[in-house]
Amino acid sequence: MKEVILIKYGEMALKGLNRSTFEALLIKNLKKALKPIGEIEITRSQSTIFIEPQSDEFDFNRALEKVKKVFGIAAFSRACVANKNIQDILKKAEAYLAERLKEIKTFKVEAKRSDKKFPLTSPQISAQLGGYLLKRFPHLKVDVHNPDEIVTVEVRDFGAYIRAGQLAGAGGMPVGSGGRAAVLISGGIDSPVAAWMMAKRGIELCAVHFASPPYTSERAEIKVRQLLEKVAEYSGEIKLAVVPFTEIQEEIGKKCPEEYFTLIMRRFMMMISERIAKDNGCLALITGESVGQVASQTIQALAVTDAATEMPVFRPLIGMDKEEIVEISRKIDTFEISIQPYDDCCTVFTPRHPKTKPQLEQIIKAEQALDIETLIDNAIKGTRYSIIE
Ligand code: ATP
Ligand code: MG
Repeated sequence: MKEVILIKYGEMALKGLNRSTFEALLIKNLKKALKPIGEIEITRSQSTIFIEPQSDEFDFNRALEKVKKVFGIAAFSRACVANKNIQDILKKAEAYLAERLKEIKTFKVEAKRSDKKFPLTSPQISAQLGGYLLKRFPHLKVDVHNPDEIVTVEVRDFGAYIRAGQLAGAGGMPVGSGGRAAVLISGGIDSPVAAWMMAKRGIELCAVHFASPPYTSERAEIKVRQLLEKVAEYSGEIKLAVVPFTEIQEEIGKKCPEEYFTLIMRRFMMMISERIAKDNGCLALITGESVGQVASQTIQALAVTDAATEMPVFRPLIGMDKEEIVEISRKIDTFEISIQPYDDCCTVFTPRHPKTKPQLEQIIKAEQALDIETLIDNAIKGTRYSIIE
């Protein structure tokens, strides 16, 4: 029996003239995601994308796992294809749905006929198929209000598609539809979630990680790579820049007042990330900050951090509680990696009494003890790039 994956898109369907660009992007992203599974043919018609495997060995379950992580999809399902005559629809539905129908007690049929040349109306198709299934599976009852399963038949231009239920897609917009941004990625719980949330809105990601060997270990960098691999399952490949940060932290430690350590360090992160972002065609920065979580995330501290860059800084977690962030990190499977205990450079030089209401002028004055330009140039020179996929 011929099977396909049917994909319904979400918000993009509302985008008027841009819609076909979004559709093309979604198809491109689907092709990339499904490449390792096997050869497919993709077509689209009437707000639906059809994925048709080109070989019998195609692993549908693996393919569905991939589709589940492609942004821009509202719902998807596996369906069988019948010829456009009611006899074939009845026979194929019986065979294709048998296993599922044996597990349940109640069902209803929903039919949609977009091919108006088909001789039966939608209610007639529903009635015929419902009656037929009741006869073939006598334990079943119809429940139109709260059925265990909804059997759907869609009669379209190229065939009739039969399925039981559908799965929720990842939502959002196709990655690439929103331009590029650079996420500042630590090994913590928050920044991978922030990256995922922006990718969900169609943003293509670059990543910047600051490493301070020997204070931070090679394991910390491996952890960051593992986190990005998880995010990349949704976002597609991510270019990662690993920036040497030891010299800067040591200089700050030697020459600046302790209460400002973290903030000055964060300002350096912003300045360097902005340079890397510009070099890589990114239009904004992304961080995992959330108001009040730590001393460097008060409104005053965030304002001081923002003042170090002219780029927009997106903080998608800004109003979220830790619990809500953890929930997403579990969903995207980064949580267990994030809680591995490897030091981040942020935890290396932490002041005992950080300023929670810093004044920008005082910070700028404190920074005058440093050769900012040279420090940044050195960091950029030492930056190593790699691709995470
Ligand atoms: P996270 O869980 O993402 O580490 P956090 O709550 O621990 O966040 P901080 O350590 O203060 O907060 O970091 C705030 C944000 O700064 C992070 O979300 C991340 O975007 C960025 N950041 C922190 N450390 C690094 C690093 N070593 N490299 C790149 N970005 C970093
Ligand atoms: Mg952190």
